[in-house]
Amino acid sequence: MSKFVTGTELTGEHAAKIARTLDALRDVPSLRARYDGVAPPATLAELEAVPQMDKNDLQVALSHRPPRAAHGATWVFQSGGSTGAPQVGYAPTGLYMSRVYEQWKALTPDDVFVNGWSAGKMWGAHFLVNAYVDHARCVAMNLGAMVKEEYDPWLEFFANRKVTAFGGTPSVLRLVFGHAREAGVKLPDLRKVLFLGEAWDPQLDEDLAIVAPNARRWGMFGSTETWVVATNTPECAADTWHPIPTQLVHVGDDEMLDFTCLADDVLNPVLRYRTGDAGRVVACPCGHDGPAVQVLGRRDNLIKFRGHLVNVPDLVADLAAQPGVARAQLVVHEPADGGSVLEVLLLTTADASPRVAEDVRGHIVGSGFGPSIVFQRNPQSLQVRVVDALHGNARTGKIPDLVRR
Ligand SMILES: [Zn+2]
Repeated sequence: MSKFVTGTELTGEHAAKIARTLDALRDVPSLRARYDGVAPPATLAELEAVPQMDKNDLQVALSHRPPRAAHGATWVFQSGGSTGAPQVGYAPTGLYMSRVYEQWKALTPDDVFVNGWSAGKMWGAHFLVNAYVDHARCVAMNLGAMVKEEYDPWLEFFANRKVTAFGGTPSVLRLVFGHAREAGVKLPDLRKVLFLGEAWDPQLDEDLAIVAPNARRWGMFGSTETWVVATNTPECAADTWHPIPTQLVHVGDDEMLDFTCLADDVLNPVLRYRTGDAGRVVACPCGHDGPAVQVLGRRDNLIKFRGHLVNVPDLVADLAAQPGVARAQLVVHEPADGGSVLEVLLLTTADASPRVAEDVRGHIVGSGFGPSIVFQRNPQSLQVRVVDALHGNARTGKIPDLVRR
């Protein structure tokens, strides 16, 4: 049954924010027809009648009228997509983290925290977690992404500095702690592992039990458009989340989630916004009496590759438009020990250059957008090959854009 994940009705303040967001969306020429007859909702039942919006709608609205923060700076971040152009999200200085800290005390002043989310290139997570650290008032170290050759010296440094908390995308955490386990590294002081950007990977529980037996997981859930929507603690199920009070999560009859931002200072016009994630309302095993949502993963054209969102049809179309390429297909290899590889298979045209695979690789890595940062840091995680045939479904004859191995 369709339901909002909240214990309370809309307040007057929240209804006023929704009315302003509705005005902003109505102001966009291509969205006007959808929102023209929609009255500002005063109750959750009325909000349920407001049409939903998708990623494309939000990008159109943001480019029609780029938002500006009332105080401090207006920061722009990319939220992935394809190699074509980054999708973006805006946020003011502070990235709304005071409200996250109010609900979620993952870090405390006695922590020594390492920020292992990749930094720069307009990615939000690294920057966002630093804004959180300002509220937690702990000791913090900005690590960013590591390459394999750096794991040993940095892990030794963390052990010597008695690091108590480490945060990153689960696919990165898995490589770090998998390596630590293999190398026999012990981190007895590590108590907390923060994650954001992907679902928790159960393999981490096994590796942490050996490398850092005192460590427990603390998660944040959200997107660059909605910012942090919900949090969980070690007592919660890893896939179950408690929304922060100014984030309204709705579960549709089809189990698709949509999000509405209720806080006055939120810049992105997020109103019944569908991210492609599915979920359901559940009771969390932590016993917290507030509402909880179990996130079931994506049901759209987006995949997460090493923590970065990739729009599969957009990327395949972009590659097929490159000189000499007739058709492209993505194959994601996800070996049990981590270290996913994206293989791009190409059917070429008769006049294709013998260098077409190198050219396509250069196009992907050099775009600077979407997953290109992953391939710049881990060149072996991208393989481009010219083939005689793509993987097809023997029964239907269909050739999917994406194959998982
Ligand atoms: Zn819980």
